[in-house]
Amino acid sequence: MIIQSVQVAILDLPTIRPHQLAMHTITEQAVVVARVRDTEGREGWSEIATIGGASYGESTPEAIKANIDTYITPHVIGQDPIRFGKIMHDISIHVRGNLHAKALVESAIVDLAARQRNIPAYELFGGKIHDGLPVAWTLASGDTGKDIEEAKEYLHQKRHNIFKLKIGKGDPMKNVEHVLEIQKAVGDRARLTVDVNQAWDEDTANQCIPILQDGGISMIEQPLPGWNHEGMARLADRYRVPILADEGATSIQEIFHIAKHRAGNSIALKIGKTGGLTAVKQAAGIAEAAGLGLYGGTMIESDLGTAMTVQLYSTMPPMKFGTELFGPLLFKDSITTNRVEFRDFNVIVPDGPGFGVEVDHEKVEHYSREKGVLA
Ligand SMILES: [Mg+2]
Repeated sequence: MIIQSVQVAILDLPTIRPHQLAMHTITEQAVVVARVRDTEGREGWSEIATIGGASYGESTPEAIKANIDTYITPHVIGQDPIRFGKIMHDISIHVRGNLHAKALVESAIVDLAARQRNIPAYELFGGKIHDGLPVAWTLASGDTGKDIEEAKEYLHQKRHNIFKLKIGKGDPMKNVEHVLEIQKAVGDRARLTVDVNQAWDEDTANQCIPILQDGGISMIEQPLPGWNHEGMARLADRYRVPILADEGATSIQEIFHIAKHRAGNSIALKIGKTGGLTAVKQAAGIAEAAGLGLYGGTMIESDLGTAMTVQLYSTMPPMKFGTELFGPLLFKDSITTNRVEFRDFNVIVPDGPGFGVEVDHEKVEHYSREKGVLA
């Protein structure tokens, strides 16, 4: 039952509408998927998303694939998947950084190990605490009236009661007005958060945050550049509205640094940026010990990547700010034959073997940039 092959492909998945961030607008999302196969032909699958090529983060889809194919795969072939801790330890000795690549490989191995035992992958991480996780939606039409209509509709459907607005692009004060109008319209039926995606300097943050705070906005995500831990610490100290570190909070070492210097008082977790399922549980432990609030972040994963993430987060104590694992709802199509479910303001934890979703091989091939890799 040892691992016989590792294959990686880049897929371009179209979204139902443009999804605007400060540095990039997603209309087609590049996700990287990995498949590991054992000697009996069983398969483990995983997905890691990145945003906007090299514009959001250092790991590009092309680099993830190249570095796995060249440097990581040789340490995986011939290994027993249930010893994913040893495999990842061996990789850590030979491959520096490359956190997204490591996350993709570890996740596929975990899916395979769980499928070999016919159990959900969350059983390998202590078992699930929750059956569902609160899930936010991003309002991104850019039109205040349309966003209010959308928020009201999803409240009515009991799909979301936490809404996030990406406000890193355009005039900061106009964006603040837009957010406050929406908050006024939904009142106390919904919580609103904002994500600046590193776009402000400290002066702009000091102009905008007090207004957002007085308007009842419940969290401000990464207002300053990821490197500016000192500035984030000053904002976290100055305002009572929670300041959340996302792009600044990547590896477990960086998350420890943020915790120590209070460079933000809450952390967005993501499997890719932190280097894998095991690393994210370690990150959550650091945050918990430091009294930081947690948020289940997304890089806009499809059903496969979302199922992975939801399963892992189901094994952790409740997150103060819930999650934003709405990825599958933003795609026109799915690469799995069963979908991740959303109901009663929650994303539901899949319970099948592995990550609980079954890959549709034809769809994977259809959306693959290079044909035949995972055929
Ligand atoms: Mg963010």
